[in-house]
Amino acid sequence: MANQKKAAGETKEAKATKAAAEASDASKFVEDLAEKDDFSQWYLDLVYKAELADESPVRGCMVIRPYGYALWENMQRAMDARIKATGHENAYFPLFIPGGFLEREAEHVEGFAPEVAVVTRAGGEELTEPLVVRPTSETVIGHLYAKWVQSYRDLPLLYNQWCNVVRWEKRTRPFLRTSEFLWQEGHTVHRTEEEAEAETLLILNDVYQDFFLKELAIPGIPGLKSESQKFPGALRTYTIESLMGDGKALQSATSHNLGQNFARSFDIQFQDADGVVKHAWTTSWGASTRMIGGLIMVHGDSSGLRMPPRVAPVQAVIVPIWRKEEERAAVAEAVGKVEAALRAAGIRVKSDWREERPGFKYNDWELRGVPVRLEIGPRDAQNGQVVLVPRTDRAAKETVSQDGVARRVQEVLETIHTTLFEQALAFRKSRTYQVSSYDEFREILADRARMGFIEAWWCGDGACEAEIKAETQATIRCLPLEHPEGAGTCVHCGRAAGVWAIFAKAY
Ligand SMILES: [Zn+2]
Repeated sequence: MANQKKAAGETKEAKATKAAAEASDASKFVEDLAEKDDFSQWYLDLVYKAELADESPVRGCMVIRPYGYALWENMQRAMDARIKATGHENAYFPLFIPGGFLEREAEHVEGFAPEVAVVTRAGGEELTEPLVVRPTSETVIGHLYAKWVQSYRDLPLLYNQWCNVVRWEKRTRPFLRTSEFLWQEGHTVHRTEEEAEAETLLILNDVYQDFFLKELAIPGIPGLKSESQKFPGALRTYTIESLMGDGKALQSATSHNLGQNFARSFDIQFQDADGVVKHAWTTSWGASTRMIGGLIMVHGDSSGLRMPPRVAPVQAVIVPIWRKEEERAAVAEAVGKVEAALRAAGIRVKSDWREERPGFKYNDWELRGVPVRLEIGPRDAQNGQVVLVPRTDRAAKETVSQDGVARRVQEVLETIHTTLFEQALAFRKSRTYQVSSYDEFREILADRARMGFIEAWWCGDGACEAEIKAETQATIRCLPLEHPEGAGTCVHCGRAAGVWAIFAKAY
């Protein structure tokens, strides 16, 4: 929290100095971010200075500011379209869950109890049964599903909800780990184990992975969680693991095959075609505002954020440039024309008419990661042109005719998406190591300049996994769906190993 304070607020002295500087020189400057070497401070600076989020008066919660929320809305729309395209419908379930519900599934309550917030008093009196603020909704939804599912004809049930959840975290960091966050949670019921497994993988591949690749330009790795890392109460958990700019991993979305565990705890039963009453098979899957943290840490650079174009709140910003008042009208006319053309082409565009120097505006929009900047000065206005500068490469500055500007911006946005993806993939590849010696394993993880994904054979023993974690802080991020065939020896204990695993330090 001390760091967050430093980033978000300013000391009185700093404010006074800045005010004096502004009084002597009316121009504003974009404050520098921390060096990217100091990754955690760089991250916080970026979140607060780009006005994505602010601190909440309640510790560990977050205030998502309009620029951050616009990003979330674009992500939500793109994800929601995929959820619906794969046959799911949205519904809404309550924030409060009867305290006893969590206890019905033993692993589930054990996993969530330490971080659950409980309401014991409401309406001026003690509650006879305390209410849990949902940390996730398997239990309350399971209760309703038991009522809604009677026959095999009722299946499958394919619902999703967009909501907030609360998990009381000790160490928090905006977007990455907050006590309250926003997400979608899908909950489905199926007739057979095969159908539930197919659903779990459909969400992993066709919803999450597709979203990460095509919307966020993030090359995540889909895989299976080890037993120790799976969702409490699940049979199997699948995940998308992404590599951040500092070489640490981020669990970016998860999809769980819950088997019959929750169906047994909540009596989700149906009469099958053969007349026999059977327990159903359920799944759940979620992706949250944490993805915003991932997007920042994968694509950000020393000047600030680099928004993936398809979800960027502002895809192109127009900066008008004029010195003399008599130049303003001609510039304004050209800006209006270009803005209208871009808007008509479906591009999210904004003209920046603030009374600030152009240099300040350039830095400010670079900090916020707007993919394309268009500069229009008096000469551009006169010549019917604009200057286009992509966020990913200032040197690729080009002059474009106003008539063709919308098409050119669309092309450049696509190029930027590809560039961001390729850079992230190249970084991931440069920080992925296939390792057979435990010494090498430890050396890589101890070196901040090399740290990343370590791929190795693992014996499959949870005790061996726990020792690796205790010694190196690295956990098994996933058992990747794509992996070498065959077998080897465990990178830690040297026993025969048939499991190919990806290890990393993680957020
Ligand atoms: Zn081992």
